[in-house]
Parts: sequence; structure tokens; C-alpha cells
Amino acid sequence: MSQPVIQLGPNFIRNIVDEDLASGKHKSVITRFPPEPNGYLHIGHAKSICINFGLASHYQGRCHLRFDDTNPVKEEQEYIDAIKTDLRWLGFDWGEHEYHASDYFETLYGYAEKLVEKGLAYVCDLNPAEMREYRGTLTEPGKNSPYRSRNIEENLDLLRRMRAGEFADGSRVLRARIDMAAPNLNLRDPILYRILRATHPRTGDAWCIYPMYDFAHGQSDSLEKITHSLCTLEFQDHRPLYDWLCDALEIYHPQQIEFARLNLTCTIMSKRRLLELVNEKHVSGWDDPRMPTLSGMRRRGFPAAAIRTFCERIGVGKSDSVIDMGTLEDCVREELNSVAPRAMGVLRPLKVTITNYPEGHAEEFTVPCHPKDPAMGARTIPFSRELYIDGDDFMEDPPKKFFRLGPGREVRLRYGYIIRCDEVIKNPVSGEVTELRCSYDQETGGGVLPEGRKKVKGIIHWVSAAHAVPVKVHLYDRLFSVANPAAEKELDYRELLNADSLEVLTQALVEPSLVDAVPGSSFQFERLGYFSVDSKDSQPGKLVFNRSVTLRDTWAKSST
Ligand code: ATP
Ligand code: MG
Repeated sequence: MSQPVIQLGPNFIRNIVDEDLASGKHKSVITRFPPEPNGYLHIGHAKSICINFGLASHYQGRCHLRFDDTNPVKEEQEYIDAIKTDLRWLGFDWGEHEYHASDYFETLYGYAEKLVEKGLAYVCDLNPAEMREYRGTLTEPGKNSPYRSRNIEENLDLLRRMRAGEFADGSRVLRARIDMAAPNLNLRDPILYRILRATHPRTGDAWCIYPMYDFAHGQSDSLEKITHSLCTLEFQDHRPLYDWLCDALEIYHPQQIEFARLNLTCTIMSKRRLLELVNEKHVSGWDDPRMPTLSGMRRRGFPAAAIRTFCERIGVGKSDSVIDMGTLEDCVREELNSVAPRAMGVLRPLKVTITNYPEGHAEEFTVPCHPKDPAMGARTIPFSRELYIDGDDFMEDPPKKFFRLGPGREVRLRYGYIIRCDEVIKNPVSGEVTELRCSYDQETGGGVLPEGRKKVKGIIHWVSAAHAVPVKVHLYDRLFSVANPAAEKELDYRELLNADSLEVLTQALVEPSLVDAVPGSSFQFERLGYFSVDSKDSQPGKLVFNRSVTLRDTWAKSST
């Protein structure tokens, strides 16, 4: 299996693995990435993926992909397919090691009978409200269920009849018989199996009882001979149950190790909430470029390599924190800076007429696609009498430090001529500036500065009106307007959505070399940022460009 190299550096998990290899407890390392197919993968999953696959490849071991598909009500084939697509896109390969908890349903059921036979599980008829009441609280012990003393024969008979479909959904459960007074609530006779008539994406209607997560996860780890079962901190309290079940069943016992979840500013990671955003149409889908999902980030133009670098940088630790979105965007910038060809595009066009340039004439400048990478080759940019510049690059009454265009001022057109603004034409009714009439200095073409001529400070981007390609541009901002929406107690998280997270520009123009740009490809629009051709909304003749990131972190500044 070829895997990208993940440089996680020394960390506490590696220390544990090193010890296990040195002591001979393990000869090789087997990890797994265990998504529940109830949603699309997000950047938090990327962290888990990089840790699990990265660790396995560091030790020349292997990492399994296992779908934790024990809840048919929420799980769908669409999610299974999307998870595999995203994993491959991130660069990871699980070879033949694709598993599903549902592959083990028969074995897991056998384990349930084994526990019953050992007197370690019983069928309980309490209803959910009673179950809650008997469970106790963090400060009070629970009470034994009146069904806890059922004998082994009766339990076995009832469990078999549960499986055979003799009882109504929710009328009975199988519970582990541990300790109703245990300080850890997870050990107070947790539910192992429930009755649920739901069609499973893989096993169809073969089962009407399904194992609970805690009874499927560790047992699947065990069956696959996972050496180190890596999960996030919220499972720390489940570890005693994980251990209890492996011991009670006398099966191979992997070691569960917990690490901190990834949280990012101005977004959320809960799949339940992400699904709500999709269903309630706050976003266009799981792959909306504002979503923290891998499919959204891919569509936005974040390279897989940038996400892997981000996962390396945040490292593996044990304390929960919220990482600044800017850190991820920096990784995206760094990667795109080296791989994205340069181009010129104008987002909010303002017409410029070069009055002393011959009518009907055009010329071409040949310029590099990347200033530092000659291997990317060259492109040609047409120049003519009518151009467009970005509206932001002109001010009628500019302050002193504004080095772009203003009445009577000079500016360099990137790769082109120096021009001077001689006249400002306005809409007589609205007063809006509609055109600049400029003159060019013929001696300065292609970036040339004749001897003795004063240098101009400002360089702006432009396109030739007759040659430019009209495109649509999506500008994205943070999905939420507060740093940590998940921590907000008072307001519903929907109220924290950033109303300006998407701006659609319909007048934008790009240089003609981009006319056949391929969906998914990325460019640096000079001075504006990195833009990627949208893979879904682009049509032949009408490309849509998504802004992946700006050139600099403008958000950190504007939010302080
Ligand atoms: P759910 O809300 O459905 O429980 P989940 O985010 O735990 O969702 P899973 O599909 O169970 O989703 O996650 C698969 C693996 O990814 C698990 O091992 C989980 O610990 C890990 N994971 C999920 N979210 C994060 C995160 N934010 N940071 C790091 N790892 C994560
Ligand atoms: Mg989970």
C-alpha cells in the first residue's frame, strides 16, 4: 500500500507503541479508522485518519477502514461511498482491509449468547423511562433492575426470541451485568442489544436486533487484531467497558488510547448539526465550500496535501483546544503558492479606455505561469485599447498612501504598460464612476522601465475587454460569526451563522488563458487570492471560480 508520509513527530501514542514493540507485546502495528456512515467526513476526521494511517505506515504496519454501521436508522450507502472517495482523495489506501461492523453481526450475536451463558448479560424489560430512573446519577448509585436476576436459561431463551422477531421494537434489551453502583455510568449494566426493525444498508432485513456501539466497536477491533485502538477523548469513560467486554468474552484485547479531538474556530464538527445545516438548506449540501467537510474543502480548492500538512502541524495531544481556522488556511496558501499557476482576473470590473492606443489593434505579452517555477511554462496575455481593472484599484479622491489609480495618477499594469488616468466618466444620474480614460506610455510595455523614467509604485491587474472570459466567482468567508459556536450556551447555533459567508460575483472576468480551465484546478489570481474551478456549478462556457483563500490572512486583522 503506498501512503503519503505523515510526519507526526514524537508523541505520546508513539511512545506507547515503541514500548509495546520493545517489550515484544506486539510485533507489528495494526490501527483502524472507524467512521460511522451517518454523514460525510470532516476536517476532524482528517486528523484521526492522519494519526491512524500515519502511525501504521511509520511502523510499516497497516490501517484498516472499518465502517461502524450499527445504527441502520441513520446510516446510508451514500455516506459509505463518500467516505471512501474522501479517504482516497486525502491520499490513503486501505488495500483489501475494508471491513464493516455488520460483517461481524453473527459473531457479535454469538458473543452475546456467550455472555448470557456466563451469567454476565441479561434481558431487561424496563422501559426507557424506568431504565433512566434505575440508572442513578453521577452522585447517586443506580438500582438493580428487577429483571437482573433472571436465570441463564430464561435469558438465553428471551435473547433467541428477540433475534427471532417475537418482540416489539424497544420492548426489551440485552444488558451487560456489571455493577449498578459503579461510579462510571457506562458500567451500570449498559445495553448491548436493542430490538429495531430497520433495513440495514448492507444486511437488509436479516436482523431485527442490533448491537450497540460499545458492544460492536471493541469486539470488531478484537476480531481484526487491532493492536492500538485510537479514538478521541470522549471515549475515555468508555474504556473500562471496552476492557470489561474483552475480558468477559476472553477474546484478543486491543489497547484503547484516546487523543484530543480537533476543533476549529468559526465552524462546527458535530455530524448531527452539519446534517441539519444541509437539511435546512443553510448550505447547498455536504460539499458546500463553506462546510468543514473534506468534500467541501476539496470543492473550495483546498489541496489534500495542505490538509495533511495541517494535521501534522497540530500534532497529537491529550488536551482539547480550538485551533484557529487561519492555521489551516496558512497551510492551504503555502501549498497553493507553490503549485498554483498565476493568472489575472478582475472581480468588479471598471472599464479603462487607453485613448492614445490605436483602435482595433491588439498585442500580446508572453509571461511566466509561475514566477519561481519555469517548468510551469508561459502564457500569453492580450492587450488592447479597452481594458478592465478592478473597481477597488481606483479612488477618485485617494489618500496619500494609495498607490493605485486616481485622477492624474500613474500606475503600472502588471506585465503591461504604465498608464495615467486623465479623465473620470460618471453616470450622470447616480454619479457612479463608469469609465476611466487613460493614456499609456509606449516605452513601458512588458514591464520595461526606460532610463530616466520615474518608477511608479503601484502595479495593478487587468484584462483586455475584448479577450476576457466572463466567469462567476464565489467569495467565501467564515461559516459562523463567532469563534466557538459549539460552546455557545444561550443562542441556537443557527443564529450564529455568518450571514455574509457567501458573496456571488456575476460580472467577473478572467484572462483568456483560463477559458478551458479544468474543474478542480487552482490558480492564483494576482493580488486577489487563490481560486479553484468549481467542479459542480461550472458549465462549458461559464466557469465558476471559488475563492479558496485570500493571499494574506485578512480575517485575523479585521476581527480584532
Ligand atoms: P458522531 O457525532 O456521529 O459520533 P463522530 O465525529 O464521532 O460522530 P465517527 O464517524 O464515529 O464520527 O468518527 C470516526 C473517527 O473519527 C472516530 O475514531 C472519531 O473519534 C474520530 N473523530 C471524529 N471527530 C473528530 C475530531 N473532531 N477530531 C479528531 N478525531 C475525530
Ligand atoms: Mg462517533
